[in-house]
Amino acid sequence: MATYTEKDFKSILLVRKFIDSWFWERYAINPYNGCQFGCIYCDSRSQKYYLPTDFENDIIIKKNAGEMLDKRLTNARTLLPDVVGVGGTTDPYQPVETKYENTRRCLEVLGRHRYPVHIATKSNLVLRDLDLLEKIGKNNWCTVSTTITTADPDMARFLETRAPAPELRFNVIKTIKEKTKHVQTGVLLMPVVPFLSDSDGNLEELMRAANESEADYVLFGAGMTMRDLQAKWFLKHLKEKYPELVQKYEELYHFKYNPESYAGTYEPDSSYSIKINEKFLALSKKYNLPYRAKRWIPNDYRKENYIIAEKLLNEAYLIQMRGKQWSNSFWAGQNIQNLRESICDIAKRNELSEIRNVNGKVESFIKEQLRI
Ligand code: SF4
Repeated sequence: MATYTEKDFKSILLVRKFIDSWFWERYAINPYNGCQFGCIYCDSRSQKYYLPTDFENDIIIKKNAGEMLDKRLTNARTLLPDVVGVGGTTDPYQPVETKYENTRRCLEVLGRHRYPVHIATKSNLVLRDLDLLEKIGKNNWCTVSTTITTADPDMARFLETRAPAPELRFNVIKTIKEKTKHVQTGVLLMPVVPFLSDSDGNLEELMRAANESEADYVLFGAGMTMRDLQAKWFLKHLKEKYPELVQKYEELYHFKYNPESYAGTYEPDSSYSIKINEKFLALSKKYNLPYRAKRWIPNDYRKENYIIAEKLLNEAYLIQMRGKQWSNSFWAGQNIQNLRESICDIAKRNELSEIRNVNGKVESFIKEQLRI
């Protein structure tokens, strides 16, 4: 049984130095700490987040989250509107939201300040806020991503203990498509859990169902990450239910099982990820489902910067999926979207090569985009 504790916090809005190139988020808000859904692979259990030890039962409610956010955005002299990711280390629509409505309050504020929004959730409670999400989408940009890792309800119960069943999550996408006109919605097929949710049958079924739900995209991540306490927790559950798989994990993540600590790699062996990524790319083509969400484009000096960066970052993603050298396109894209002036003005001065990571190839690409 979860306990709820209200706490004061000094800040509510995280400002990223570099935009998250998967979800296009510049900012992040977590209205709660801890998550009642208790997924056994949850990365938020890792020490780097300093969250409650009893992550799924000890739920912290950020007191006055909406008011704090309003104050922060009202007084922000240096912040420009950009995509705010709601959730990340917590599910913004876990059961506590029905009582405290911190997420809804934050969305109301973001809507008033005209900030675009990306929501990542496993919960059908998000449908409660369709009115608000449609308004944000109409005035600006709104995207709802529903995480679905397995089509098998029994496996979902093992991996994502208290989260709504996969069928209900697909229904979130269907309902958004039916009832809104301005909300982009798709599936986060991540993490792919080795030997538990990576079968050809499961991947195919998820893509088929995403297609049937008319998802706008399916974002895919083959490499389930493993880090300190998160890995320890996951392996404990794996050993209890699927002891025969422990050795396979030892090989994939290069460690020797020790219930006290984890000393393996952060990601599975790249040969594994590349193989799974190729399967996914083939399915994405088969079902005609984009593997990237369309990003928000600002209407100020950043417009061309973001359009060009999107293309470079999409290219970097594809190269990375194929296990090749991707970092130059990635960093060129990141540095372009962080420019403090329009790339058109830089091009006019013939100074494109002075942008970090813009080599001859990227420069030609930019000129082609700008038609110069
Ligand atoms: S829903 Fe997300 S935040 Fe919550 S436990 Fe699962 S993975 Fe973690």
